[in-house]
Amino acid sequence: MSVLKVLKYGDETLRNPAEKVSKVSAKIQKLVSDMFDTMYAYNGAGLAAPQIGVSKRILVMDCSTEEKPLPAMSFINPVLIKKEGEFISEEGCLSFPGMTTAVTRYSQISVRYTDVKGKTQLLSVTSEENDYLCKAIQHEMDHLDGILFIDLVIDRFSAKALLEANNLPAIDPSG
Ligand code: ZN
Repeated sequence: MSVLKVLKYGDETLRNPAEKVSKVSAKIQKLVSDMFDTMYAYNGAGLAAPQIGVSKRILVMDCSTEEKPLPAMSFINPVLIKKEGEFISEEGCLSFPGMTTAVTRYSQISVRYTDVKGKTQLLSVTSEENDYLCKAIQHEMDHLDGILFIDLVIDRFSAKALLEANNLPAIDPSG
């Protein structure tokens, strides 16, 4: 078991687009397992590899609740092949401890990805079926492109106020 350090907002690594995984090797499987250990240690529901400083297109997620039990999931090289509709989603992020905010997400998605055994999988979910899973996939996938949920806050003035209230640095001017 390895719990890795989660990078906080302000770390430049979080802004870098991650690279595709070419092969699901034993090394990648170990990384996925360490990512689960880290996510659970921080009480998170999702974690993307860039958050632990690894620039690879990998996510882990556990959106299981009492009402809607779900297995823990890992996604390698996920791609959104369908994105339609919209819903308002209240979110937090392990890279922004203690902060939550509402952002707009697609309400119907299909994601194609490779699982930890190297098999291609397809998952479709709507916010109506499971808003928690629907938003978590989109939130974590954004991390792979260097996009953070603060970027999706409706306007720059609310984003600024929110960051200031949480003693966090301003959104990078280059962004
Ligand atoms: Zn996040």
